Amino acid sequence: MAILEEPIREVLTLKNYIGGEWVDSEGELVDVVNPANCKTIAKVPISTKEEIDAAVEAAQEAFPDWRRTPPLARARAIFRLKELLEENFEELSRVQTMEHGKTIDESRGETRRGIENVEVATGIPSLMMGYNLEDVASGIDEYVIRQPLGVFGLVCPFNFPFMVPLWFAPYAVAAGNCVVMKPSSEDPISQIKVAELLEEAGIPPGVWNIVNGGRTVVSGMLDHPGIEGICFVGSTPVGRDVIYKRCGETGKRVIAMTGAKNFMLVMPDADLESTIASCMTSFYGNTGQRCLSGANLVIVGEGLGESEYNRFYTKVMDAFVDAAVRIKVGYGLDESVQMGPLRDAGKKKKVVGYIEKGLEEGAKLTLDGRKLNVAGGWPETCYLNPTVFEEVAPDMTIGREEIFGPVASVMRARSFDEALEMVHSNPYGNSAAIYTSSGKWAREFQYQVQAGNVGINIGIVAPMAFFPFGGMKDSFFGTLHGQGQEVIRFFTESKVVIQRWF
Ligand code: NAD
Repeated sequence: MAILEEPIREVLTLKNYIGGEWVDSEGELVDVVNPANCKTIAKVPISTKEEIDAAVEAAQEAFPDWRRTPPLARARAIFRLKELLEENFEELSRVQTMEHGKTIDESRGETRRGIENVEVATGIPSLMMGYNLEDVASGIDEYVIRQPLGVFGLVCPFNFPFMVPLWFAPYAVAAGNCVVMKPSSEDPISQIKVAELLEEAGIPPGVWNIVNGGRTVVSGMLDHPGIEGICFVGSTPVGRDVIYKRCGETGKRVIAMTGAKNFMLVMPDADLESTIASCMTSFYGNTGQRCLSGANLVIVGEGLGESEYNRFYTKVMDAFVDAAVRIKVGYGLDESVQMGPLRDAGKKKKVVGYIEKGLEEGAKLTLDGRKLNVAGGWPETCYLNPTVFEEVAPDMTIGREEIFGPVASVMRARSFDEALEMVHSNPYGNSAAIYTSSGKWAREFQYQVQAGNVGINIGIVAPMAFFPFGGMKDSFFGTLHGQGQEVIRFFTESKVVIQRWF
């Protein structure tokens, strides 16, 4: 077992980045703890209302000059940022593993996807073009221009600390807006590392600000008249009842990408080997702390008789459990580790609570991840091993609610229609997948399923940066989705100009 060199060797005291300056906060400092070894790696401030106000003011001041900077010049700064992120790729990835717990491979994947968003944002001169039509009436032309709006607030979750802020910030800034971003206070370090590169990239002071903290910072953004819109990624209760509601009251644009409970259907004609490999990353990747994680595995008996179905079910389950048992759990900076710890002890307690609830409600615990097997002898505080429940009904707590941990709930469905009904009985609609070699079932699933991201023989349906990313039902509140062309529309206003030529 070899642990890669840790890039954080002493406890960092984090600051806010406001108007191009690193500013100490007046707020209380809280510990950021590496969940793999329980060591404190940073102290993060819980900033005050005055500090969020100062950041919005700095952004408002920077906006007039930045919006007048030609799109190509803005794109150059974003392109330079991409180069700097590439130069720091490995350090950024290792920081994520230390602050979050995910494996180094998962962190490298996250860094890559984050940078891809920066890369796509460099296309801003084409992405924000308007359109026109001449002679809409005699001698009259009409055209649409897209303009930046001002200052946007970004509120980010803990589970993808590097990538999620980059679903928004580079596009907003490339389009000529300014941003005030609040990373998750649970793992804010990689965003601080990004901010350390902004000046060298040529992004002027005040254009991209970071204010650390919690609810006070978020309420400060929601109530501030200088903020045009909010991009939020996090849980459904906060996204729906706090962010979406308040943005409606104050007239702000909003994207709120929220919680999930994703179903994976296995049809009798699925290729078992690739299905199981895909399910392992889907259910246990990122320790199940992913809005696209598989949560409910539905083994579908479409067209099978009773005994045939039982044989098929057993075959899938044997392969699934056999693969889950083999997943190596430990510190993600050990490159042979396949699953890291949960983000913190509180999150582990919550997941363990769900395991207890599953037992209480009568599900069968086939693989109990509470029986720990952690490579490397690290403190057990945040670790769980892969867990599998069978005989789960869609209305049981573990079948219905987002667990956000390495727990698979297996359900039986005798037909495709019954399986689809199970999916639709759940309030969430972020992602769903089907494993099948039949074009008919794949097409029918894609056509009917109420989910924003649909996988066909793919278990993690993460749209590339140039495609939109958003869910349905309780997984999304707003209209335009994150990433690519849709987010550029979110960050710009269409203005119609009608001109008479003599
Ligand atoms: P969370 O809702 O607890 O926190 C998200 C952000 O909101 C954080 O920055 C937090 O400080 C802030 N916040 C928390 N409570 C608040 C309150 N009462 N008022 C104002 N702000 C508040 O979410 P989390 O635990 O950080 O992230 C996990 C959740 O995010 C899961 O539900 C997951 O499914 C979801 N998520 C969704 C997507 C998606 O694309 N739909 C992507 C990633 C994560």
